[in-house]
Amino acid sequence: MNNYFIILGAGKGHRFSQKKPKQYFNYKGKILIHHSIDKAIDSKLFKKIIVVASKKYKKEFKKYKKNQLLFVSGGKERKDSSLNALKKIKKFKPQNVLIHDAARPNFSIRLLKNLIEKLKNNIAVVPFVNSTDSIKYRINTRHINLDRDKVYLTQTPQAFRYKNLYKLAIKQKKNISDEASLFLSSNQKIKFIYGENQNNKITFSYDIKNLKSYYGVGFDIHKLIKNKKLYLGGLKIPFHSGLKGHSDGDVILHAIIDAILGATRKKDIGTYFPNIKKFKNIRSPKMLKPIIENLYKSNFSINNLDINLICEQPKVSKFREKIINSISKLTSLNKNQINLKGKTVEKLGLIGNEKAIACEVIISITKYD
Ligand code: ZN
Repeated sequence: MNNYFIILGAGKGHRFSQKKPKQYFNYKGKILIHHSIDKAIDSKLFKKIIVVASKKYKKEFKKYKKNQLLFVSGGKERKDSSLNALKKIKKFKPQNVLIHDAARPNFSIRLLKNLIEKLKNNIAVVPFVNSTDSIKYRINTRHINLDRDKVYLTQTPQAFRYKNLYKLAIKQKKNISDEASLFLSSNQKIKFIYGENQNNKITFSYDIKNLKSYYGVGFDIHKLIKNKKLYLGGLKIPFHSGLKGHSDGDVILHAIIDAILGATRKKDIGTYFPNIKKFKNIRSPKMLKPIIENLYKSNFSINNLDINLICEQPKVSKFREKIINSISKLTSLNKNQINLKGKTVEKLGLIGNEKAIACEVIISITKYD
């Protein structure tokens, strides 16, 4: 398994926003470029995953372990970026290398396996799809019809024997739109395989038209009792009491669940987790998991979560980072999409007397279709 996966993510495409390139925007629940990285990791096909990105955005990759990714700075043009990466891995003596655009998050792991399999008998393997639109080609002032069955729209990832690609890439002067062009312009054979229609480039200019956003609000309160463990946001917190309930009483996760259900008009937590024996003492992360999975499966993406934890003790400031970390893991959200506020009630009433803890959550979600 001497395979390497290069993700080109240094593009500055500001069509979508002036603030940051599109590969750092949230798409279906996570940062666009993370989709490609996560799939490459999950596939277990690669010795190293190389991310070509601007140093400025290095913090966006904090969730990955150091040995999982290799960073390379982008070059002026696409060809420079991919050459930087090819040079960087030369010392590993790679056999195969896949080159991929970060703006295509929807390829399958099956496609990766297929590309590598086909490299056994080919030096270059490139996925394509046919066009669904009619295509005309202009030569000077004349326009001619192209037979769309013979038009190949090439996609990434594209797979190559490292040595062959490196030889061509190092000589290349002009900019290229993909590595397949290098092989074609030097008359080297490419094995074309049928790609995946859903593996289109995310441009956002199209997606933006179809965006719909929704808000949901959730509230929960549980009684504090002795001899019970306290769970908040999926995290065990050392405290003199815990929250009484049919489940572990995690007010934060329950309020998040209700906020999600509210935003997607799917009734309430009790509908899915009634007080029946099956759910006795269930841990709340187990309740949140199917709700989150269903949300992402339905093409929703969470923009942000804002949480008010209403209690006298424990002090939220002491556990804020850890709770946010835990929620970030459970929801696959970035930590900067989650805010947690602590609110005391001036020692008033049940909550003020440390007899209960309450929580309210507001969530904003967007549907991508
Ligand atoms: Zn509850």
